[in-house]
Amino acid sequence: MSIPCTHLDQIHDVRPSGAGCVECLRNGGRWVHLRMCLTCGHVGCCDSSPGKHATQHFHETGHPIVQSAEPGEDWRWCYADKTQV
Ligand SMILES: [Zn+2]
Ligand SMILES: [Zn+2]
Ligand SMILES: [Zn+2]
Repeated sequence: MSIPCTHLDQIHDVRPSGAGCVECLRNGGRWVHLRMCLTCGHVGCCDSSPGKHATQHFHETGHPIVQSAEPGEDWRWCYADKTQV
């Protein structure tokens, strides 16, 4: 059983920060998949990527919910509740 997400009020109408992971673009890193923060629009890379910047963004900011930024994917994930939203 998964716990329902209690962070839906932190979803805003955001625009992606860019076409790739913010930190990887800055550092010249590579990513596998992209996740977009639904609180501020930060684009970060997934946990299969070396940088894990989407997870890092959650730890730094507390923004809990990301949406897949991959074409054809629209699932959302809450880091705080570890559940699909
Ligand atoms: Zn949640
Ligand atoms: Zn990254
Ligand atoms: Zn954010």
